[in-house]
Parts: sequence; structure tokens; C-alpha cells
Amino acid sequence: MPAILPNVMEPAPSPIEDVEKKFVSHAPGFWEGEDIPAETWADYKWQLKNRINSLADLEKHITLSEEERSGVILSGNKLAMSITPHFFNLIEKDNPNCPIRRQIIPRVEETWIADYEMSDPCGEDSHMPVPGLVHRYPDRVLFLVTDRCASYCRYCTRSRVVSGAGEQTLDMDHEAAFKYLEEHTEVRDVLLSGGDPLLLSDGKLEKILSRLRAIPHIEFLRIGSRIPLFLPQRITPELCQMLQKYHPLFLSVHANHPRELTMEVKEGLERLSNHGIPLGNQSVLIKGVNDDLDIMRSLVHKLLMCRVRPYYLYQMDLIEGSAHLQVPVAKGIEIIEGLRGHTSGYAIPQYVIDAPGGGGKVPINPDYMVQRNEERVIVRNYEGKTYEYPEPAIDLVDEDEIAVK
Ligand SMILES: *Cc1c(COP(=O)(O)O)cnc(C)c1O
Ligand code: SF4
Repeated sequence: MPAILPNVMEPAPSPIEDVEKKFVSHAPGFWEGEDIPAETWADYKWQLKNRINSLADLEKHITLSEEERSGVILSGNKLAMSITPHFFNLIEKDNPNCPIRRQIIPRVEETWIADYEMSDPCGEDSHMPVPGLVHRYPDRVLFLVTDRCASYCRYCTRSRVVSGAGEQTLDMDHEAAFKYLEEHTEVRDVLLSGGDPLLLSDGKLEKILSRLRAIPHIEFLRIGSRIPLFLPQRITPELCQMLQKYHPLFLSVHANHPRELTMEVKEGLERLSNHGIPLGNQSVLIKGVNDDLDIMRSLVHKLLMCRVRPYYLYQMDLIEGSAHLQVPVAKGIEIIEGLRGHTSGYAIPQYVIDAPGGGGKVPINPDYMVQRNEERVIVRNYEGKTYEYPEPAIDLVDEDEIAVK
């Protein structure tokens, strides 16, 4: 018998901890010792009321860096800080580079503005025929129905108008929007966003949905919401029962890191699915959060397990004060290339750049076309092998002969 050899077959430790691959509950977490009854914790109104939104709240639980401290102080007149206890519990107490922390705790870098950054990077304000309605594409509109969210993402493309902290307010005129939609028969798809539409009460949201459903040419409704991640407690059976009256209704959530997919989140997403609501996910590529193939793979796999189809991966908009969170486009392409062919096609989002100034979403793809001319295309597969595909020959058929017959 040979002496015990070091086990060279031991796989290299994965950069993702196992806990990130599982669906776990992080409650009560930082609220341990406060003896909060489970039903209180599960009450979304309690979660909203107990959000972390001051320096004192934060420092009760975690030690801030100088950059974060200044960031929190300066955020008061830019984009507010507000973090639900549910989401706050995902923070790793002693990790200054925690991917959750980077998304929701302000940093002083947010006040450093590069000359190519903009307060309205997608040119939404100039594409609003009526306040709150962005009509950029021929057949669909973006309808901003509220300026509040359950928590605020530091890189938010609409930080100029959400949270109520900045100077600019989100002008909304729901009646004018309904009138515009009634008159514009080319609009067949309305996407409710904000802010977060699921922060509205069931009654208010139902008023909007029923008004839209009464317009005959509107075929398709969808909601963009980060509430299933920030505040899964809001996904009540009553909300789901209300929503299912307005089918076909799709919902796009916004998860960026696998740790966001907790047990509570999974249950909320399943509840939505069980009411017939198809779910998609839109992620933003963020430095130090998900600019890594292993993290992204874990995220998209967990999403599929929650019956959520990864829909878009956004290159971050050039919002003011976002340079510290920006990732090079090459990295995004590399991540997509690392997924395509290597895992389920259903797991792969479309990587897009929302063209600065208002050009809309432009797909960005790895280049699989090696060569193309009239006779053939040469393609490369996920393993890097090349294949030739002959183009259909155009003049195989003798047209005179056909005419004679
Ligand atoms: C993203 C977006 C839409 C929806 O685009 P899809 O590609 O259809 O999901 C519609 N209007 C605006 C202004 C948008 O930014
Ligand atoms: S949830 Fe959406 S709208 Fe709200 S702060 Fe985050 S990115 Fe902006």
C-alpha cells in the first residue's frame, strides 16, 4: 500500500461559497436578539417601516469605511439610502467588499462625476410625450407609475427622479397617460416601471391595470420590479390573485447576485409563477458584484430553479457617479461567451447596451461568425471549432424553364 498521498484530485475551491448556491433564509440575522415574531418579520409593512435609512441605523449593525460614511452623508440630496431588513441581512458583516453592500450602501465615489456621465443617460426625459410615459419604440411604452422603491440601487439609471432626495421630481400624469394610450392604437405593450410599481397598494395598482386592460389595442402588460428581491414579503397571495386577473401579464425582476435568491424570494417567485405570471430577470453588470463567470453562472442557474428566465444583462448606464461600478464591455462579452454552449440556453440573458442619449437597447454578442460571403458562412462554436455552412445557391433554378411549364 502506498503511503497516503495528498489528494491531488481535490477540486480547486470554488470562489462561490456553497451557501450562495442554496436557497437559505438569512432571518433574523442582524435582528437576532430583538425577538421579532416570525409573522412580524413576514409583514411587508413592518419591513418597510424598519428600513435602514440613516447613518445611525447602519452603524448599529456594521462598521463602515470612510468612503461609505461620506457616501451616506452625501446621499441625502442625491439618491436616498433605504434598505429593507430582509435585504440588509444579506450583507456579510465583516466583508468590506461584500457584493450586496456595493449595491445599496452609498460611497463617496458617487459624487465624482466624469464628463461623459449623465443624469438621464438613456434620454428618457426627451422621449416623454406626456409626463411619466416614455415612448421610444414603435409598439410599446414604458409607463413610470411611482418614484419610490423598497430600497435604492446606487447605480439606478433613474436616480435623478427616484427616492425623492434629488432636485428633479418624477412628473406623472396618469390621466394624460391613459388618454395618450387610448389614442395611440399602435401601442400593444405597456411596461409598468418607476420606481417600483409593486410598492403601490393592491388597489392603486389594480386601478392602473384595469384601466389599461380596458384599452382594446393593448395586448400585453408587464411590470418591472425589484420588490421580489428587496421585499419578498410583498408578494402576498392577495397581490397574486389581483395580478392574475390582468393576463397576459409578465413580470421582470432584477437580481444581480446569487445570494439575493433566498428561500423567501424563491417562495415569492413561485407564488407569482403559480398564478400564471411568466417571470424574467434583468441584471446589471456591476464591478465587484457580478463581473465574474462563476457568480453569473450561479445566478442564472438559481434563477431557473425559481422558474425565472434570465432576460437581459445590462451594461451599466453612464449614470453620474457610477465609474467605480462600471465594468468593461469586453468582460460582459466574456461572461456571455462563458455561458453560451456551456449551459442551458434558457439560462443565458441577452447582453445589451442601452444606447446613451436614447438609442434604445442594442444587443451585444460575442462574435461567432468567422467569415461570411455570398457562398458561405464560417462559424465558430462554443469550443472554438469552426464549421462551414454553405449559403443556398441563388440561381440553381432556371426561371425560363419554370415559365414554360
Ligand atoms: C426597455 C424598454 C422597453 C422594453 O423593451 P423590450 O426590449 O421590449 O423589453 C420599452 N420602452 C423603453 C423606453 C425601454 O427602455
Ligand atoms: S429598484 Fe429599479 S428603479 Fe428602484 S432604485 Fe433599483 S434600479 Fe432604480
